Amino acid sequence: MSFVCLVFSLTFWQGYQIRLYESQSSSALYPLVSSDLTSQMNAISSSRVYCFYPGLTAHSKSISGTFPPTEQEIRQLNSRSIEYNDSTAMWARECGQCCPMLWRLTYGLEGVGVYSWGGLEGKKNVTTDRFKEAHLRWRAGDDCLNIHCPYQRRV
Ligand SMILES: [Zn+2]
Repeated sequence: MSFVCLVFSLTFWQGYQIRLYESQSSSALYPLVSSDLTSQMNAISSSRVYCFYPGLTAHSKSISGTFPPTEQEIRQLNSRSIEYNDSTAMWARECGQCCPMLWRLTYGLEGVGVYSWGGLEGKKNVTTDRFKEAHLRWRAGDDCLNIHCPYQRRV
């Protein structure tokens, strides 16, 4: 099921793209957490920046979301020096909050990187946060192949 509709795409001569998606639901969270890559699970609002996998993003890593990314998306990650893994199988330590098997909740935004940037004039101080108050459960996949991870599916 698709939660998004591509509205606009701008490609630069280096191959970089800016894509604007519109949510097909009442919340922007559904398409955000069902992205093909964890590196796409970032958002900016009028007062905040959100990163749903800050541990991976900080280390320039990305793993597949619910659906595998396209070859073009993988090439774009590589061109930006972002390491792509289709699974966590080759990781040398446990996955932690990044484990694709781990169910996460938007409520409270535990494990989500949030930065209040203050809006265009730097003075915006919004006390309510729709993402933080939403009740949505998601996970990046349905399997973990990392032998170091306690969430690895045992057969
Ligand atoms: Zn794991």
